[in-house]
Amino acid sequence: MIDFHTHSAASDGALSARDLVDRAAREGVRRMAITDHDTIAGYLSVCQAVPSGLELISGVELSCQWGRAGIHIVGLGFDPTFPAMTRHLEGLDKARRDRAEKIAHKLDRSGMPGALAGAMAVAQGAQIGRPHFARWMVMAGHVVSEEIAFKRFLGRGKPGDISLLWPALDDTVATITASGGVAVLAHPLEYKMTATRLRALTDAFRDAGGVALEVINGRPKPGDTDTLWRLVRERDLRVSVGSDFHRDSPYSAGLGVEVSTIREGTGVWEQL
Ligand code: AMP
Ligand code: MN
Ligand code: MN
Ligand code: MN
Repeated sequence: MIDFHTHSAASDGALSARDLVDRAAREGVRRMAITDHDTIAGYLSVCQAVPSGLELISGVELSCQWGRAGIHIVGLGFDPTFPAMTRHLEGLDKARRDRAEKIAHKLDRSGMPGALAGAMAVAQGAQIGRPHFARWMVMAGHVVSEEIAFKRFLGRGKPGDISLLWPALDDTVATITASGGVAVLAHPLEYKMTATRLRALTDAFRDAGGVALEVINGRPKPGDTDTLWRLVRERDLRVSVGSDFHRDSPYSAGLGVEVSTIREGTGVWEQL
């Protein structure tokens, strides 16, 4: 089993990076990447002491912008000390702090004061994101669930969805590539694009140096993978797979993807 898309408590995952790799090793994952949102702090905290039987490669899930759309690019196997990468991550730290202030301002105007301090307390030093706001909103009694927090306040098109804030897609892909890594277009179907637009996104991604599409993310719905495989064949891309694990939940996948289920194409794992 491999897993090239996972989250630790350094972003919005529930497990510390240590617990995450220990668990992955215990459950039979042989190669994995911790791909936290816009931070490699979790990876750095464990990369010197990886459980035996597990190979950990560097990873990150970078937020970026393609036109008005927010897109996630997974970077794998890059040099974490490469200056272009560390600079890029510093820029994202600042972008996330600025965004958190804007989200808090919007929530304040919707009758929820104190959101910034609240979300920061939830994050406990992690790279701050909307899930931390969602958790605080539940704890403060503003909504009954994190799902509702997203549906009403934080999700696409809602007041707390701050747009046009991330670095451009091509700069993001270029940074990963320059740092010696491989860029993967994460969960291509999550952007809810028409087939034509998704093709245009894929072309922009490939033109910028991107090499793979994530054909399995968590638990794909029947038919999802067919669409992605068609795109992979059409555009001659490689493939990546991952659980996108954040925490145990009845709705999401556990750690690890069985590589034997990938019967065609070329996996990024063959070049890493
Ligand atoms: P951010 O990185 O701050 O933009 O937050 C995006 C993250 O929020 C995603 O990576 C998911 O982990 C989480 N998320 C997105 N939509 C939902 C939702 N409807 N309910 C719960 N969590 C969500
Ligand atoms: Mn997340
Ligand atoms: Mn994502
Ligand atoms: Mn993710």
